[in-house]
Amino acid sequence: MSDSILKALGLEGHPRVVKASEAASRGAHLVHNPTTGAPIAGVTLDTAASYDATVAASVKAFDSWRSVPAPQRGLVVRAIGEEFRKHKDALGALVSLEVGKIRQEGLGEVQETIDIADFAVGLSRQLYGLTMPSERPNHRMFEQWLPLGPIGVISAFNFPNAVWAWNSMLAAVCGDTTVWKPSLLAPLTAIASNQIADKVATALGHPGVFGLVMGTDAEVGERMTADPRLPLISATGSSRMGRIVGQVVAKRFGRCLLELGGNNAVIVDKSADLSLAIPAIVFAAVGTAGQRCTTTRRLIVHESIVDDVTARLKRAYETIRIGDPLADGTLVGPLINDRAVEAFERAVKEAKSQGGTVVCGGERHFLGGRFVQPTIIRVPASNRLPISDEETFAPILYVFTFKEVAEAVAMNNGVAQGLSSAIFTDSVRNAERFLSPAGSDCGIANVNIGTSGAEIGGAFGGEKETGGGRESGSDSWKAYMRRQTCTVNYGAQLTLAQGIRFE
Ligand code: NAD
Repeated sequence: MSDSILKALGLEGHPRVVKASEAASRGAHLVHNPTTGAPIAGVTLDTAASYDATVAASVKAFDSWRSVPAPQRGLVVRAIGEEFRKHKDALGALVSLEVGKIRQEGLGEVQETIDIADFAVGLSRQLYGLTMPSERPNHRMFEQWLPLGPIGVISAFNFPNAVWAWNSMLAAVCGDTTVWKPSLLAPLTAIASNQIADKVATALGHPGVFGLVMGTDAEVGERMTADPRLPLISATGSSRMGRIVGQVVAKRFGRCLLELGGNNAVIVDKSADLSLAIPAIVFAAVGTAGQRCTTTRRLIVHESIVDDVTARLKRAYETIRIGDPLADGTLVGPLINDRAVEAFERAVKEAKSQGGTVVCGGERHFLGGRFVQPTIIRVPASNRLPISDEETFAPILYVFTFKEVAEAVAMNNGVAQGLSSAIFTDSVRNAERFLSPAGSDCGIANVNIGTSGAEIGGAFGGEKETGGGRESGSDSWKAYMRRQTCTVNYGAQLTLAQGIRFE
């Protein structure tokens, strides 16, 4: 199975991909299938010298790419989107194989790439600047948006294809080139994805627009964040990583777009339609085995319905099919690796020692390996459970209670992260309070839908320790361009602003 997927994506015989059996002798990094633990293939890593060559090629490509008219850049991205359509099935399967997402989610991820490519094509004719009235006679003042440079993209393992596309498709129409450093937990998806884009761009006369570097954080990641040739580093991953990367980039006055960890809550008001709320919570809490930045980790339920909601969730959890992510009907696959399983077990143990009660799950799954049971934990009557302040990247849902909506909103906001949030309510008043200046402090706030599964049309990102960056839709493209304010004097007199006379 894995051989046919690699073959369909042109990875068999690819210069960076070696057979698993030859990985050790060729000094390659071995990639494992989280479902079985078996090695899939090896990938060769970059050295300082090859990293340097890729960035140099990206700088060179930027020199010409920036002057290609934006709508023509859009045509290149359109052709790339078409190519992703052709490879959707195989690439979606590779995502499942490499990171354990179920087939539907693997396909959904590639669909996001196709969608953002479409979005970027439209955007290529809409990189608008404003014209402002000048206070001086016979002057015109306006702003324009110009390409920024080669962009460094660092991506997390759990969106091995789409995060890169959110960045690189927008960057491409903005006139930037991209150098992508993927997670070493998902390098095969990265090689396949980058190859698709690079082949199209090269065939259309633009080699070097899509660069890829792979290596350890010490050898490649840290070199990249400190590299002054990359004016913007867009980094997706844990808040731990963002804290390091943000400081290194700030030190050289680079720009940083940080998309970091989340600790997302759903509030269930007593007026909520539970036929909407329960399936939405289940999808958001256990989808991708709890390994989404937008996974629902905290449930804040009105005290009058908490027993009913918990019982319904428990029943729903009992029907979830866990297993091979590529098998029909599977809803939850494995965690990414043994470390993730240990973190899951540690968090459950900690929750119990802090007074939490396991409603369901809490153990490794009988399938063994990296499979765990989706878990619900009721917090004690004190409504405090310190472990729930942390983002454990696993399917653990902590259930809190509230009396007044203001209290629920304070609990929603009472963690260090600020990515996604949701309220289920039929009360217009409570919904609007949740969205008001005194409401959710997160970058994403939803009413009657869950915390995960954002559309590409909106700006995606969050506040506080989530990093403050915005990617994907709306006007996120502005992060990939430099703004220039221009004033043109078409008169015959030199007039100074603020009426200053200098004579
Ligand atoms: P991670 O922080 O371990 O790694 C993310 C990326 O950062 C990897 O490519 C890694 O190699 C790189 N990296 C780590 N240290 C670095 C350094 N010092 N210099 C340069 N690069 C470095 O995260 P992960 O385990 O791959 O992914 C899970 C995390 O990502 C979770 O916290 C999740 O919430 C977050 N995430 C956030 C978003 C978002 O959009 N907000 C999306 C996906 C994942």
